[in-house]
Amino acid sequence: MSGAEITVSKQKPTPVSVPLATLIGRELRNKGKAEKPTVKHGQAALAKKGEDYFLIKPECQRTSGSLLTTFSVFAIFDGHNGISAAIFAKENLLNNVLSAIPQGLGREEWLQALPRALVAGFVKTDIEFQQKGETSGTTVTFVVIDEWTVTVASVGDSRCILDTQGGVVSLLTVDHRLEENEEERERVTASGGEVGRLNVFGGNEVGPLRCWPGGLCLSRSIGDTDVGEFIVPIPHVKQVKLSSAGGRLIIASDGIWDALSSDLAAQSCRGLPAELAARLVVKEALRTRGLKDDTTCLVVDIIPNDRPVLPPTPMKKQNLISSFIFGRRSHNSRSNKLSAVGVVEELFEEGSAMLAERLGKDFPLDPSSGLFRCAVCQADQPPSDGLSVNSGPFFSPASKPWEGPFLCSNCRRKKDAMEGKRLSRHAVTA
Ligand SMILES: [Zn+2]
Repeated sequence: MSGAEITVSKQKPTPVSVPLATLIGRELRNKGKAEKPTVKHGQAALAKKGEDYFLIKPECQRTSGSLLTTFSVFAIFDGHNGISAAIFAKENLLNNVLSAIPQGLGREEWLQALPRALVAGFVKTDIEFQQKGETSGTTVTFVVIDEWTVTVASVGDSRCILDTQGGVVSLLTVDHRLEENEEERERVTASGGEVGRLNVFGGNEVGPLRCWPGGLCLSRSIGDTDVGEFIVPIPHVKQVKLSSAGGRLIIASDGIWDALSSDLAAQSCRGLPAELAARLVVKEALRTRGLKDDTTCLVVDIIPNDRPVLPPTPMKKQNLISSFIFGRRSHNSRSNKLSAVGVVEELFEEGSAMLAERLGKDFPLDPSSGLFRCAVCQADQPPSDGLSVNSGPFFSPASKPWEGPFLCSNCRRKKDAMEGKRLSRHAVTA
């Protein structure tokens, strides 16, 4: 790909070499600007325990500069040990995310601010739920669609997949299951948790890997007040920009993914309108595995404006092109380089469980009020409050510089607990 160049010389006296990827990128961006896609959705669910919840907000409004514009939000919450965390997240998470984005941003700035705001919103929602003193927890897979750009934030093992019009299926989430995620096992252990299976008599170990105390199979969630703080609410976030051919998202709880692979789920409903597609995916999962768990599925089609439905997916002729999809992982940064030719542009991906790495090192001080704003809960604080723990270095520039982000004392306590740097709330109150 890097060697491919097109010489544009016919109309100009001086030949100008432009890399192929740049040309395609320009074309993609121009097409993207030309018309806003239509977003259509369908939903289907079968309840076994009644702990799955979903959120559908196709027309959220925001001001972009001086214009009023819309974006869509779709989310699935798969609760465990009760339903209150799933309901609480459904009712509060969107507002908590939006309140972490500064007002009046243009589209590009807004999209750039979104990954951080998602992290802040997830952590804030978790703190607020824990303050209610209720048990129960929930997975969250939270999808924001703004024109051709899709941003997905997730904790737990509900998934979002993307089926592009090249017939290529990609996973936009990461499974936070201790059984399957070695990095998360190491993190939980390093933060003071124990990872192991249930012991039945005779010393036989059964079931999936769980962390103790609590016995949860997941390494990230919202809620779970009765489990160690190392089960963090910090989401994996991925942001991609579709080509003007559009694509289909399938967002579903583990009742689907325990029965169907990403490819099978996508194949089972291609070419059908979203509403029917969602029902077919649930039906296919049921046929394969029976109703063992709550099974919820949202299908969201991002459709070029001049078409009534997603165009039928061509057969896989573009294997060469397919191999470029998500071939480049952007770590910890935003990049405008193309990672795929004509299919999907990867804008951002970050999954670290360390809050400081996700929120940046900003210490936003409002000069008029003299107040700092907490990067998680957005509360304004006089500097002395949030900085009381380590205020020395910050106020004496000669010594080691202060490590951001700025957090109020409450959110700083949460951060330290998640990293295993202080005793959890239970140990303190016991
Ligand atoms: Zn705070």
